[in-house]
Amino acid sequence: SNNLMAGKRGLIMGLANDKSIAWGIAKALGDAGAELAFSYQGEALKKRVDPLAAELGSDIVLPCDVSDEASIDALFDGLKERWDNIDFIVHAIGFSDKNELRGRYVDTSRANFQMSMDISVYSFTAVMQRAEKMMNDGGSAITLTYYGAERVMPHYNVMGVAKAALEASVRYLAEDLGKDGIRVNAISAGPIKTLAASGIGDFRYIMKWNEYNSPMRRNVTIQDVGGSALYLLSELGAGTTGEVLHVDAGYHVVGMKAVDAPDM
Ligand code: NAD
Repeated sequence: SNNLMAGKRGLIMGLANDKSIAWGIAKALGDAGAELAFSYQGEALKKRVDPLAAELGSDIVLPCDVSDEASIDALFDGLKERWDNIDFIVHAIGFSDKNELRGRYVDTSRANFQMSMDISVYSFTAVMQRAEKMMNDGGSAITLTYYGAERVMPHYNVMGVAKAALEASVRYLAEDLGKDGIRVNAISAGPIKTLAASGIGDFRYIMKWNEYNSPMRRNVTIQDVGGSALYLLSELGAGTTGEVLHVDAGYHVVGMKAVDAPDM
């Protein structure tokens, strides 16, 4: 542990269980001395999030469905009752109908396109509208993206389109908020077995492919993502904004199947 986040307070959105990327990030921040608040979606998740928050010394656990403006307002009203200032935001939220995370992108429905964009893209902007007002001494925010934003990945489909829009929104948010000392970045994580990932078709195959073909010949962990999040959210990242940082064991630099990768 270290003191990189001593005296800093922030909100973690998207914790579902101890496999969540949000958990790897929360632990890294907690170990570095940050004070944490959490939001969860739906009563069913509260009983999972409460003990995880407690493990990191937090009793600020608030509901928020990011598809509902009133729910986001209520979250920030609740946060303001406890804190008058925040220093960081972690947005680790994405959603799409899993029936459209297999097969062809061309078959995406209008309804699921709109829902995926709303929950996975707009929600980050909606959150930053409120967060900005509580970041009185500047701040730092991150969201989570995936290489499917940049290149076609099997089954990722409408989520790839959504992540491309999310990455573009990171750049626009960085410009708007930079003057106030607020940095906005994304982490592009390699595949990790989480609840959300289990909805993606052939996910085990995608994990194996990354393990065999990434320069580091392994998959990344939520601890790996936590370390990079700590860099972006602490003063170590003071000069970095609008960036998409790949935490993918180098997979994004590879142009061809590795010579030592087994046949699959
Ligand atoms: P996860 O299932 O643990 O987390 C997803 C979270 O999104 C859950 O906590 C869920 O409650 C929340 N969520 C969904 N709809 C919501 C809504 N309407 N309101 C509020 N919260 C909502 O899975 P994860 O893999 O940790 O996902 C976190 C982020 O990381 C997502 O943006 C995901 O796309 C991204 N990501 C994941 C991987 C991977 O391989 N797991 C790779 C790159 C990026």
